[in-house]
Amino acid sequence: MKLIIHRGANEIGGSCVEIQSGDSRILVDFGMPLVNKNRERFDSASIAGKSIEKLKEEEVLPAINGLYKGEKSAFKAILLSHSHQDHYGLLSSVNTDIPVYMSRGCKEIIEVSNFFGQTGYDLKNIKTVEMWQPFHIGDFTITPYLVDHSAFDAMAFLIKSENKKIFYSGDFRGHGRKSVLFKKILSNPPQNVDYLIMEGSMIGRDTDRNRTEDDVKIDITSLLKERSCLFFIACSSQNIDRLVSIYLACVNSGRIFVIDPYTAFILDKLKTISKNIPQFDWGKNIRIFFVPNRYTEKMAQNKSLFKFKSAKITYDHMQQIRNQLVIKDTFLTREIFAKKQDLTDTTLIYSMWNGYLPDVKPFWDQNNVPIVEIHASGHAYVEDLQDFVKAFNPKYIIPNHTFYPEQFERYFGSNVRIVKDGEVFAI
Ligand SMILES: [Zn+2]
Ligand SMILES: [Zn+2]
Repeated sequence: MKLIIHRGANEIGGSCVEIQSGDSRILVDFGMPLVNKNRERFDSASIAGKSIEKLKEEEVLPAINGLYKGEKSAFKAILLSHSHQDHYGLLSSVNTDIPVYMSRGCKEIIEVSNFFGQTGYDLKNIKTVEMWQPFHIGDFTITPYLVDHSAFDAMAFLIKSENKKIFYSGDFRGHGRKSVLFKKILSNPPQNVDYLIMEGSMIGRDTDRNRTEDDVKIDITSLLKERSCLFFIACSSQNIDRLVSIYLACVNSGRIFVIDPYTAFILDKLKTISKNIPQFDWGKNIRIFFVPNRYTEKMAQNKSLFKFKSAKITYDHMQQIRNQLVIKDTFLTREIFAKKQDLTDTTLIYSMWNGYLPDVKPFWDQNNVPIVEIHASGHAYVEDLQDFVKAFNPKYIIPNHTFYPEQFERYFGSNVRIVKDGEVFAI
């Protein structure tokens, strides 16, 4: 077998790994970069409208033959580990003859993103896979593992061919709402793995405290009980674990979680996959504010907005009961409140990666709204990565999805093999 990490050996984001066995080539993930060459934030809007040739020239698209539109396809499949842009965000440039394998949850989320015009990716060649059920692609036998991550229905892959086993961890953690999956794989890991391609997002991030998703719920609950004021909360509509934490905190503190139609739409889409995901019609702790943004308009156009009418809360009603609310922050919602000068006695809970905080901080500072950060990472802490490696006891560990591959040896021992971006590595 041959392994080529086209991108991600030395950075977080833009994940793209190729594995070859005989004539069979597969690609695992095909993500948008999160940083540019200078390690500054990558501007994903900058690629809009550019040709594949141009994007190759700019090295946004890795030099991979037989993958792109307009070329003869040389790939048997693309496997997607999960629905984060840094793992699937470049799919729109791929030859649509190549089937793309993903979990049902991943498919739902990508379909939603596509519906709202966020991906430009042609969805016609999707194949969904079942967890822990091996399937065959060319010379490969692949087994998907459901993992705990901030993306819903995220997977790792055990990939077998030529009597060798590769385990691709994808993004994962041991401290989320599905931490039981982490414990399960520690107690029963796949045996005799030759190469563990493992993410290391948290390596080198000394400042992050080892907080769990349950800590997030507890801390938000305490804050909601402690302060009698209006709360806004900044979080991702696609981070289902976090929406569950916030919803439970609202239930525990007797507050109402006010979401936007886009968030309600996502939750509704996922209800066939899990019955534990809060829904708009679950009663007194959840309402929807029909913020007049482009998502709501899009839903109104295709008549899907109507479904959520029973949970609608108006601006005037929110004003009357403001101290009972936790409003999911969106650009327009906060602007509406600011315009009506209704942000006095308000707190913002910032519940996402703080790299994005500088984007919104000036707004809240200007309106004298204090910000409280309550967050837990979507990625495994170093101690959990160490337990993971110990349980697998692989022949070799290959660093991936990390800015610090050279630090792997310090944490995981001498059987680390650093593979550089683009290097053809014989397995
Ligand atoms: Zn990632
Ligand atoms: Zn991820």
